[in-house]
Order: sequence, then C-alpha cells, then structure tokens
Amino acid sequence: MPATQTHKTSTHAALVIIGTGMAGVGLARALRRLGDQRSITLVSADSGDDYSKPLLSTGFAKGLKPNQLAQRSAAELGDELNAKMFIHTQVSALDVDNQFVLLKEGQRIGYDTLVLATGAAPRVPFNIASSVAPSCFTINDLDDYRRFHTALGNGPARVAIVGAGLVGCEFANDLYAGGHQVSIVAPERSLLPRLLPPPLGNALGDAFSEAGIHLHLDRSLHSIALSSDENTVLQLDNGDTVGADLVLMATGLAPRTMLAEAAGLNVLPSGIVVDRQLQTSHPNIYALGDTACVDGVNAMYVQPLQASAKALAATLSGTPTPVSFGAWPVVVKTPLLPVVAYPPTTTPECWRIEGEGGDISALAENKDGRLIGFALTGGCVRRKVELSRAAPALLG
Ligand code: FAD
Repeated sequence: MPATQTHKTSTHAALVIIGTGMAGVGLARALRRLGDQRSITLVSADSGDDYSKPLLSTGFAKGLKPNQLAQRSAAELGDELNAKMFIHTQVSALDVDNQFVLLKEGQRIGYDTLVLATGAAPRVPFNIASSVAPSCFTINDLDDYRRFHTALGNGPARVAIVGAGLVGCEFANDLYAGGHQVSIVAPERSLLPRLLPPPLGNALGDAFSEAGIHLHLDRSLHSIALSSDENTVLQLDNGDTVGADLVLMATGLAPRTMLAEAAGLNVLPSGIVVDRQLQTSHPNIYALGDTACVDGVNAMYVQPLQASAKALAATLSGTPTPVSFGAWPVVVKTPLLPVVAYPPTTTPECWRIEGEGGDISALAENKDGRLIGFALTGGCVRRKVELSRAAPALLG
C-alpha cells in the first residue's frame, strides 16, 4: 500500500527518486504510464504536494491561496503513483557502492536504481542580517510561496524585488497585478538581460514603469537594513534608498549538485553531468530536471524536463532512449508586455532588430546569416511558432 511518512526504519525500493518537483513526479508518472510496476519511493525535502511551479508567479494576480496551487497532496500523489512518499525529509548522503541513500534522521533507503531530481536552489549572493531576515524571501517552491503569502497579509504591501531575470520580472508583474506596490533593483541596465537584447529589455522596462513599477536598474544593492522606525530599507550603491515591507530575492538559481558531488559523481557548476540517456558517471544513477546538465546543456525549464522524463522512463523500462530538446522558446509570464525568447547558445554575429513601441522582434544570426536564436515582445510574440521551426534545436 502506498504511504506518506516522515520517519521509518531502513527500507528498499527498486527505484528511489530524490525530488518531487515536475522532474521527479514526471518520471514516476511516465513509468506508470508505460505499465512499469516496480516499487518506487519518492523523497522530498519539501511538502511533496503536487503543483506546477510556473504557476507560482501567477498566483498573486489571481488571488490564489497556496492550497489552491496544490493539485494533489503528497498522500494523494503517493496513491496515484502507487509510490511510497517520504516528505519533509532531507537526503543527507548517497552511498553509491552499497546502493542506499541516507536520510538526515539517519535512516537508509536502499535502491536498485537511483534518480536525482533535486532541482536548483536560489542563489543569494550576500549575507542577510538577522534583523531583516524575517522580511526577506525567496520563492522557489510551494512552501516558499506559503511563507511569502502569509507575510504579505491581506492589504497591499510594498515589495522590493532584487533581480531582473525571469523570476524577478514575473513576480514583479504578478504582485503588481495583485495590487501591491513593486520596485525592482538590479545591476543590469535592462530587464531580462540573459533572455533579451537591451532594446527589448527596455521595452519591457517601459511597460513596467508606465504601470507604476519602480525600476532601479544599473544599481547594486549595498545593504538591507532596518530604519529607526523598524522599516526595511534597501540601500543602493548610489546612496538611493528603497523602503519595503517585504524583499523578494530573485538573484538566480544554482543546480543542487552537492549530494552527487560528495558521492564522487561528475558534476559541473551547470549541473550533474549526464549523457543523452540521463545517466550520470555512475551506471545505476540518473539525473534530470534543473539539476542535470545533459550532454553540456542545462535547460532550467519545463519542456526539456518533460522530454527527459519520457526518455528516461523508456530507458528504465528496457528501451534505451536518448533525449533530445527542440527549439523550445521560453514564454515569460509578463502580461504587461508579453515576452518570448529563445536565446542563442553561442554569441551571435549580429541581432537583427525590428519593430517599434512594445512590438519588437530580434533575430540572432551567426556569421553565415543563419538564425540561431530570437526574442519577441508585444504583438511580435505571434512569430514564436514560425521562428521556432527555423531555429536550431537546443539539443538535436
Ligand atoms: P524542483 O521543482 O526544484 O524540485 C526539486 C525537488 O528536489 C524538490 O522536491 C526538493 O524538495 C527536492 N530536494 C532537493 N534536494 C533534496 C534533498 N537533499 N533531499 C530531499 N529532497 C531534495 N519553466 C517553464 O518552462 N515555464 C514557466 O513559465 C516557468 N515559470 C517559472 C516560474 C518560477 C517562479 C520559477 C521558480 C520557475 C519557473 N520555471 C518555468 C522553471 C520550472 O518551473 C523548473 O524548470 C522546474 O519546475 C524544475 O523542476 P525540478 O523537478 O527539476 O526541480
């Protein structure tokens, strides 16, 4: 019988998956869909609730309570997958020679096959003083969303977002749409610097500014401190200050590779090294999702992990299946100005930029004039399908 548990003595499963994000759960679902009957145990450091992470940055506009974002509880998920669930349970080490994972509480789970779907963790590049820590947050899972949602309370709040990447911009738009007063602080000169060339980042910036989102770009954060009247204040490098009730740190994500690295598996800063069959440097250990660097590519978004889950399920069920990633653009959820981007993987020879106002298309070309990436804003996002067909696959 499936069970949800937090504390049990040693146990064994044919397949142990660490992580109940879209990658870990997606793999278990794909296996069951193929009729695979092996025993599966899923271990998660978080609540294990089944939710779609991309929806986290759409919840405030819709006024969604955290539990409305959870599609299934961990117990229901265990029933659906006929899997044993260990929730709020941290795996502290892997013993790859004796094939077990060690839980923080000291218990062991033996495995025949192990899959690492440990995702990526928020990178916070500086120390946050304990005096302001209660008002500083990251949101990278449903538990984080729960904490932030509680801190936000019912009334409109002043939220300062540090970081102008996808997570920062999506939460800025969503919190603004939810009635909050939003500021963005970032060292780059335009929004979405890794996805958009500056003219398109500026178009998004204009849309944000017109809506009343305060942009502090080209500015580093000097410190976060409490003012004499107990308000949280961000001090910027030019001496400006930004007052906030809550601070949301959106300063990037780093693949969680620590377990793999400590166990002696090959890892890079860009993730756990796996081949096209998602196999790590150890024969019966696989990795997928945000934590994995697949044949040199770490793509931290949903379509690649879905393709990986499908391919790995086939491989584990006896049909070795290499994964490939198509030219799948990232759709950024900023309704103030829709954005679609498929950033080039090598530096382009030139960007061909056309359009005006918020409707801009930017095509990245190599020295032979071939399309190697693109970025679209406003009405130009309708070119997404046509350009995706013309662009090279991410992992062909
Ligand atoms: P995660 O969801 O991070 O899951 C990791 C799991 O591993 C968790 O269950 C965690 O508890 C567990 N874990 C980690 N370490 C341990 C340990 N030591 N012991 C036990 N358990 C452990 N992508 C898109 O394609 N489109 C979007 O619109 C989009 N929007 C996004 C919006 C936001 C706000 C964010 C943050 C991301 C968004 N993404 C989007 C990216 C996408 O959501 C991720 O690529 C995807 O969810 C990653 O899934 P994952 O399973 O690899 O990792």
